[in-house]
Amino acid sequence: MLLGGLQKLTLIDFPGRVAATVFTIGCNFFCPFCYNSELVDAKKIKKHPQIPEEDFFNFLKERQGMLDGVCITGGEPTLQADLPEFIKKIKELRFLVKLDTNGARPEILSDLLEQKLVDYIAMDIKGPLEKYHKFADAADILEKIHQSTQIIRQMPDYEFRTTAVPSLHEKEDFLSIARWLEGAKKYYIQQFKAEKTLDSAYSSIKPYPDEQLVEFCQIAKPYFEICEVRV
Ligand code: SF4
Repeated sequence: MLLGGLQKLTLIDFPGRVAATVFTIGCNFFCPFCYNSELVDAKKIKKHPQIPEEDFFNFLKERQGMLDGVCITGGEPTLQADLPEFIKKIKELRFLVKLDTNGARPEILSDLLEQKLVDYIAMDIKGPLEKYHKFADAADILEKIHQSTQIIRQMPDYEFRTTAVPSLHEKEDFLSIARWLEGAKKYYIQQFKAEKTLDSAYSSIKPYPDEQLVEFCQIAKPYFEICEVRV
């Protein structure tokens, strides 16, 4: 596994759990607002220090009984060929696992679910399907993204979430997303952070006021069991 970061304690990344978050290197998307650019931009990746897997597992062993789980985020974790083996090793240490994904690799998600390797998945919804070309260039991306949403919806616990970015998202987009994902368990609208973005122009974009996110949330709410704003 290519690991590029470790947050040793989080009370918010894994809902209801005390966890650590590990960051994987590399992504197949190019979201201009991405604030983990050091894990995505090829030039920055070269300069970014890696964490040896052994160090990560030594850390986990020290935290047994103190942490409930591990969040695996990125970058895009499903790009790493040894992700299933990595998760198995985490599970052998009796930690729950949450996976963050952009949903571009449904076949990997399907495999992880079949092997019961993940306890919670959070999938980024970059926008309504018709806007995905702004974030990824794979020809079959729409089909794959939709397939991933279908797979994830079979899980007992999961969430979909969108980072609302001025210039990329408008009010109508949240209705389109809600209609697409209607009946899903949880949908969150997240505040955009204008810091170290992949496209530097986005560092100067002013985030939507929180009240605007609440308005977007009101539009989407009737379509989900839980729909909330994260600021
Ligand atoms: S926001 Fe996520 S999916 Fe988009 S480029 Fe960054 S790591 Fe990749």
